[in-house]
Amino acid sequence: MLIPCYACESRFRPDEFFGACHDYHRGLDQVAWTCPRCGNRDDLRVLPGALGFGYPRRGRFDVHDRVRVPGLRRHRQELRLDISLDEKVWRVPSRVRQAV
Ligand SMILES: [Zn+2]
Repeated sequence: MLIPCYACESRFRPDEFFGACHDYHRGLDQVAWTCPRCGNRDDLRVLPGALGFGYPRRGRFDVHDRVRVPGLRRHRQELRLDISLDEKVWRVPSRVRQAV
């Protein structure tokens, strides 16, 4: 199971990919991700069993592309998003200030 960077087309193991997630925006239900190879920043939503890549638009996040990640789960906390796959959990903290 490899997850692509849409900018440089590198592919990452889940461990490496989710470790590069940062800034959970709870209002948009959106996670920021910065590619460890090329530095490109992408926005995505963690869904049950999939990642949704897209763009924030008019106060919501529109998913344009889905990548299946079997077994992927998410749990929305007050100040962070917990992403889990197999036995592992990655915690993505919320930004302290969030623009609406
Ligand atoms: Zn990249």
